[in-house]
Order: sequence, then structure tokens, then C-alpha cells
Amino acid sequence: MSATEKTFEFKAEIKQLLEILVHSLYTNKEIFLRELVSNASDALDKQRFAAASGEDAAEDAAPAIRIDLDAEAKTLAVTDNGIGMTREELVQNIGTIAHSGSAEFARRVAQAKNNGGSTGLDNLIGRFGVGFYSVYMVADAVEVTTRSAQAGAPAQVWTSDGKGSYTITEAPADTPRGTRILVRLKPDLVPQFTDPELIKEIIKRHSNFISFPILVNGERVNTVPALWREPKFQVTPEQYKEFYSFLTHDDAEPLANMHISVDAPVQFNALLFVPPHDTDLLGLNREDWGQDLYVRRVLIERRDKDLLPRYLSFVRGVVDTEDLPLNISRETLQDNLLIRKMHSTLTKQVLGELEKMTTDADKYAAFWRAHGQIFKTGYSDYVNREKFAALLRFNSSADTDAQGLTSLDTYIDRAKTGQKAVYYAFAPSREAAGLSPHLEIFRRKGLEVLYLYEPVDEFVMESLREYKEFKLTAAEHAPAADLEQFPDEAGKRTAEELSGKDAEALPGLLARIKDILGEQVTEVKASERLSESPVCLANPDGRVTSSMDKIMRVMSRDTSIPKKVLEVNPDHPLVRNLLGVFRANPEDPFLEQAIRQLFESALLLDGYLADPHALVGRMQDLLTKASGWYAKTREQNGNS
Ligand code: ADP
Repeated sequence: MSATEKTFEFKAEIKQLLEILVHSLYTNKEIFLRELVSNASDALDKQRFAAASGEDAAEDAAPAIRIDLDAEAKTLAVTDNGIGMTREELVQNIGTIAHSGSAEFARRVAQAKNNGGSTGLDNLIGRFGVGFYSVYMVADAVEVTTRSAQAGAPAQVWTSDGKGSYTITEAPADTPRGTRILVRLKPDLVPQFTDPELIKEIIKRHSNFISFPILVNGERVNTVPALWREPKFQVTPEQYKEFYSFLTHDDAEPLANMHISVDAPVQFNALLFVPPHDTDLLGLNREDWGQDLYVRRVLIERRDKDLLPRYLSFVRGVVDTEDLPLNISRETLQDNLLIRKMHSTLTKQVLGELEKMTTDADKYAAFWRAHGQIFKTGYSDYVNREKFAALLRFNSSADTDAQGLTSLDTYIDRAKTGQKAVYYAFAPSREAAGLSPHLEIFRRKGLEVLYLYEPVDEFVMESLREYKEFKLTAAEHAPAADLEQFPDEAGKRTAEELSGKDAEALPGLLARIKDILGEQVTEVKASERLSESPVCLANPDGRVTSSMDKIMRVMSRDTSIPKKVLEVNPDHPLVRNLLGVFRANPEDPFLEQAIRQLFESALLLDGYLADPHALVGRMQDLLTKASGWYAKTREQNGNS
């Protein structure tokens, strides 16, 4: 052991990841090359960036990635003259999991294995970019020789068989700047991975768009220029698809390609894609989004987040401009006026593309399923409000199932003559919405209601407020007078008019109910909207919707039950019975029991009843009484 040699243990999560990769039956082992080449390309980008920003003026040999195959030595080497790594960086980057995705990936695969199946997850390896470690799918041992661009940093050699530890030792002083990954191939894979023709094919398949020359045994393989700078008419659909799959590791066809070329107010070219599915595979990398920003073909920032708003973060692609200085610092990108101009142009372009997509209902449905969730968070884009609103889709009472997607325009087309509002209601599910007492009057009048299932929908409605002169109105806030102008279509009220005595007693009963419920309700009143339910809870005028109220309560950790208006349906047989009981004796204890039961049932339906014990106890008591009366009646009627 030389004086500088030191052995390190891999971190536990890396051991786990290596274990999985080494034993993986994953057949597409070639993707290790994609990972090594892309690391080399990153290192070259970093070096070019550092040189451009003047940190390292000594730009020497032309940047390139060399792949050298040696069947006899059973090795494959990937060499770059990029930024290299210091000893500390080696330990940091290759000994620990730098890439949060890899750690999460390892955890998921291990989990799946414990649950008895890993076949599905094997397929994830290809799309997941497990990075450097994927080399252990093909290697018995790996040697990383590297010298950092940092002045005076000594060159290092990192070695490991991937079985738990690695060693680092100093490399010869004449080691050139950059990194060389020497892969000692597993014997059975030597023929495959030392065959130049096969390797060239692999490079073409996965790394064709790398912007640095890739040489296999000295011969240049990738020839594809920066596609986004080509004139549109020269680019074939296959090239777009290839480029998309290069960017995303996704073999599917993107839903849309946008090839954009703008000269004023700022010059840029862009090639953007709308993926057919959520490319954040496991939903764990929500922050891993953005477009790759180039200045005159030099990568300035991968996954730049200033070029498009977050609600369009599903868009993947590259943007290249002539107008920024190469040495622009990453920190100032955000405040840069040119970037802001590109941001606004690109946003409009993407919204325009989505608008075009709406003409193909199936495609747009696919888009909405994949990206609707994130898209909806664009409600705060005031500048593009109309365009944004037109692209929204909702499930509606007029749809035939929960898959239905209704736009605000469709709603307006279907609206009744005289209707000035788009009605919506928050519901846990379509079934619940269909049964909700709050929507009875809408069902009776045949008025369409948009069903909102997610909290974000509520924010969308609250911030849009209106669309094409239609007020977006929460169904529960719709003034009964507005609704009464529409004739009943279904479930007309069939109850007989209240008799004189009952009608006289109604105000007394309502007062008695308020008396019983006390401070739990703000008011008790006869309902104009109910037809099938005996009671429901409504918001006092001028308050936020119940669902917004719930969101706010969760945020402020308020677990108290909100005070609402209890609306009572005087036409319901149950209420009629209670009127009878009340007229006989306003203080009848049964009345109190029944009222509390009705009130808590309404709370339960609206999701506010935290403790059902009292409700259930009362229900059992009532059932005991009712079955007693029932049994007696049966006996008296002679069991007929
Ligand atoms: P990822 O590339 O996703 O971050 P990897 O496991 O592939 O994950 O690589 C870990 C880190 O090691 C990289 O982020 C980079 O800092 C460093 N690295 C890998 N290969 C090279 C290379 N050829 N030159 C310089 N640094 C490298």
C-alpha cells in the first residue's frame, strides 16, 4: 500500500444500489455507457463554462469524449478532458449518493424486492438514470483516474470492485486534466462491449445528441448538430423523437414538439416537448424540472427554472440564445431582462401549442391526465389568465362519468338562457356530489355543476372569479332567487302544501331547533333549495366556500366545527312529523334527540364530525324505540 492509498467503505445506500445493479437481470445493460458518456459531457460543459467565465483561462485541447476498447485487456475506457475531480470530490461524488434519484431508486427497488417482486422495477433502471454505479452491471472492477481543473490539485485514482469498499491513491503527476473511467468488463460481456461496431450503435442510440465529439477507438461517431438550430423544414419527425428520448430517456412519442425560432425582442431558438406522461417517474423529484439553457451552444444551465413558469414544468427541452454573454453567472439569470422576455414568449408559445392540442380531444385528454394537476397551479398567471382558463378541464354533472372533461367554454355553450354563472361544487367524489343535499336544487332545475375534487381547484376558481362574463360561483353560495327563475325539470316538489296549523307552527319549530342547537349554528331557517333531504348546513352569507374553509382550517390547525346556517326542508316527511310532535308538546324530549341527530348527520355528510360516538349512541336509542313501537303495532295489527 502506497503512502497515499486509503480504503473507504461505501455508504449503506450505495451498497444497496450496487447489490441491485450487480444482480440485476436487466437485459439492457448498455445504458451504463449512456450514463458514463453523459457524466463526461457534464464535466466538459462545466469546464467550458468555467473557462468562459474566466475562472480557468488555460483552455487547451479541444473538448472530446474518447471511448477506447481493448478486447485483449478486457477493458472499455471512457475518457474526457473535462473539469475532473479533486480527492474530496471523488469521495463526495462517487462514494456517497449525490443524486437524490439514485438513493430513492435504491429504496424503491429494495422495497419492491421485499414485497416479492422486482421485475417491473428492472425496467425502471433504463429510464431512471442511476448514474455512475450502473457501470457495475457490466464491470468486475472500475478504475477512475482524474485530475481536477483546480490549480495544483494532484491527480487521483479511485478503484473498486463494487463490493463494499473503494480505495483512493495518488496518480502519476503527468495525468492530464479530466477523467478516465476504466471498466474491467465481466468476462461474458467482453465480446459485446469491446466490439467497436456495437459500441458505435449504442452511442448513436443513446448519446447521439451529446454536443461534444465522441470518438470510438479514435473514430468520431456522433455527427448530429444542435437540432434546435436547424431550420424546421430540415428536421424529420424521427429526429424530434430521437432528441426527445435523448433528453428524457423516454421511448414514447411526445404529445407535442415545439420548434421555436425568435428574433425579436430577443433572439433564441428552442426545442420543447410535451411528454405523454408525467416524466417524474415516481413523483419524487418535483423540483427536478426546467429547460436546458444554452448560450451559443454552450450549456449554461441544465434544468433552468427561469424560462417557463412552474405550472408548465412538464415541458422538457432546450433553449439557446445568442444574446446573453457566455460568462453570465447563474445567480443573475433570474433577474435578467432577456431571460424574462424569453420567459414570456415561451409561455405564450406553450399555451398556444396546448390550445392547438385541444382540437384533438383524445390527445388533450391524455395531456390533462398526465399534467393537469400541475397545470392547474397556473391560476396566478394573471397575464395569461384567459388562455389559461380556456385550457382548464373539469368533471361536470353533465358528463356521464368521472372521466369526463368539460371546459368552461363547453359549460357556457350548454348554459340555460338567462344563466349568468358557472356553478361549481367541491366534493370528495362524483358519487358524493351526485347525492349532496347542497346540489339538490341544481339537479331539480337541471343546472350543470362542475365538480371539484382537489383543493387546488378551489384556488383556481377563487382566483379566476369570472370567465367570459360568467361569474364562477360556488353552488352553495348561489342566491336561491337566482336559481328560482329556472323551471323545475326533475324531482319536482310533490309534497302537499303545509296545512294551516303546521304552517303556523313552523316558525316555532325553527326557533325551538335554534334553542336546542344554541351556539352550534348561526341560524335556523326554512330551506328553498332542498327537495330530498330534511336538512343541510349552509354557509352564512359572504363567507368562503366550505371547502376553502376546510383548507384554511387545516392550514391554521383549527379543529373546531364551523358555525353554519341549518336549513330545514319543511316539505320533508320527517320534518312534517316533527311539526306534529312540536304542536303536541314543544318540550317533548324526543324532539331534542331527533334534532341533534339530524344536525350531526349533516355535519357527518360535510366531513366535520370528528367523533361519531354520540351520533351512533343516539341512533341505537332511536332504533330501539322505533323497533319497540314497530313490534307493538305489528302485534296490534295481528301480525298481518
Ligand atoms: P449524477 O451524474 O446523476 O449526479 P453519478 O453517480 O453519475 O450521478 O455521478 C455522481 C457525480 O460524480 C457527478 O454529479 C459528478 O459530480 C461526478 N462525476 C461523475 N463522472 C464524472 C466525470 N467524468 N468528470 C467529473 N465528474 C464526474
